[in-house]
Amino acid sequence: MRPGAAGGDIDLEAFRREGLRFVDWVVRYLGEPERYPVLSRLRPGDVTAALPKRPPVGPEPIELLLPDVERLIVPGLTHWNHPGFFAYFANSSTAPAILGELLSAAFNPNAMLWRTAPAATELELVVLDWLRQMLGLPEKLFGVIQDTASASTLVALAAAREAVPGLNARQRGLSGAPRLRMYASEQAHSSVEKAGIVLGIGREGFRAIRCDAEFRMDVGALAQAIAEDRAAGLLPFAVTATTGTTSTTAIDPVPAIADVCAREGLWLHVDAAYGGAAAVAPELRFVLDGAERADSIVMNPHKWMFVPIDLSVLYTRRPEVVKAAFSLVPDYLRTPEEDIAPNLMDYGVSLGRRFRALKLWFVIRAFGVEGIADRIREHVRLAQLFRSWLETDALFEVAAPSPLSVVCFRLRFAGVTAEEADRRNEATADAVNATGEAYLSATKLDRRTTLRLAVGNVRTEEHHVRRAYELLREAGLRLGACAA
Ligand SMILES: *Cc1c(COP(=O)(O)O)cnc(C)c1O
Repeated sequence: MRPGAAGGDIDLEAFRREGLRFVDWVVRYLGEPERYPVLSRLRPGDVTAALPKRPPVGPEPIELLLPDVERLIVPGLTHWNHPGFFAYFANSSTAPAILGELLSAAFNPNAMLWRTAPAATELELVVLDWLRQMLGLPEKLFGVIQDTASASTLVALAAAREAVPGLNARQRGLSGAPRLRMYASEQAHSSVEKAGIVLGIGREGFRAIRCDAEFRMDVGALAQAIAEDRAAGLLPFAVTATTGTTSTTAIDPVPAIADVCAREGLWLHVDAAYGGAAAVAPELRFVLDGAERADSIVMNPHKWMFVPIDLSVLYTRRPEVVKAAFSLVPDYLRTPEEDIAPNLMDYGVSLGRRFRALKLWFVIRAFGVEGIADRIREHVRLAQLFRSWLETDALFEVAAPSPLSVVCFRLRFAGVTAEEADRRNEATADAVNATGEAYLSATKLDRRTTLRLAVGNVRTEEHHVRRAYELLREAGLRLGACAA
C-alpha cells in the first residue's frame, strides 16, 4: 500500500486490481454459502491469538489483506448468510445491498445536515416513504433510519417522555419529577427495558405485562396495571406493543392496546423489528393491524428484508415531538436552509449518520416489491411446513403458535425430569449446531427450554429446512428422545 508523496490514499491501480479480486471472492462466498460451517468452530481467544499484537509501522502490500481475511477472519465468522442459519432471526446480505455499501463507503457523506448530504437526506425520506407504502402504513408518517431497533425504540421512548405534559425532562432532567412508568409485555424485547435504563426511567419504571396462553400481551392486565400505578402516584406515559416477539413471534393485540393508550393518553410504540417486513405481502398485513394508530413504529429492513445490518427504520406520526426531544443545534451546525429542509441529525442521538438509504433503495429496486413479498411468503411457507412435520412426529411437540416464519418446539424425552428434558433439548441443539449444517438457538417458554427454527435468510430453501429436521431427529434419538 504505497502512500503518495504527501501521504494520501493508496494507489488507485492497486485498489482496482484488489477490488476486482475482492468482488470475485464475494461472488464465490455468496454463491457457495454452505462452504463454511454456519456456526464458527473457534473458541474464545483463538482469533486474538492469531493476530499480531502490534500494528505495522510501515505500509504493507494490500495484496496481503485477502489471504489474511481467509486465514484469520473467515474461520472466526458465524455465517449469517448460510442457508442453514435458523437461529435468532436470520438476516441476509444481498448483492444490490453490497453495491450500496460499496458506494456509501466511497462517497462517505455524513448525512447529519441536509447540506452535508442533500441526496442522502432526500433519498432517505423518499425510500422510507416507498417502504411505508409497501407496508400499507398511512401517509402521514415520517420515517428516519437508525442503526438498530434498539436505537429506534430509544428515540421513540425519549419522544414519549418528551410528550408528557408539564414534565419537561429535556430541560429539567428527572430528579424531583413524578416517577414515570412504561409498559410492554413480558415477551417484549430487552431493548424496551434498556431504553428505560438509558432514559432515566429505571428498571423499576418498566412494568412487564402478563401474556395470554399464546404469548400475547393481556390487555386487561395492562389496563389494570395502569390503574394500579396511577393510584400509587406513578405517572404512566408509554406502552410498547410487539408485533412479532423475539421468542415466539407472537403478535400483541395492537388495536385493543391502542384503545387503552388513547383512553389513558399514553404514547403507543409498536415494535415490529422483525414482524413488520411480513406486511409487504398483503395477506400477511395482519401483522401491522392497529399500527396505523401508533405514535411510533420500528421495523428493521436489516432483519427480514434482505438488507445487511445496520438499517432500522423508525416511523412516527409526531416528528415534531421527536425533534423537540433531540434537536440541539450549536452555532457551527447552523445552516440557511434549516427551516425548509430537514436535518436528520435532529431525529436521534448521533450527529454523524451513514448513507444507509442507498442499500435499501438498491434492494427495493433489484427485487421489486413483489420479489420481496414472494421471498417472505416462501419463508413463511417453509416454517409452516417444518411445523407440519413436527406435528405429525411423536418425538416433537410444538410450543407456541407460528404466525410468521418461526417455529418454537421441544423434543420429547419421556420418563426423565423436566430439568433433564431441558438439558437434553439444549444438547440436541448443540449437536445439530456442531455439524456446521444448521444453527438453531433456544429460548425459555413457561420456564422450559424451547428450541426455535427461524427462517429468514434469502438463500434458505426447502431442503435446508428438511435437513435441519433430520439432524434434529437424529441428534434427539441419540440423546434418548422418545414419545412415551
Ligand atoms: C431483533 C429485535 C430487536 C432488536 O433489534 P436490533 O436492531 O438488533 O437492536 C428489537 N425488537 C424485536 C422484536 C426484535 O426482534
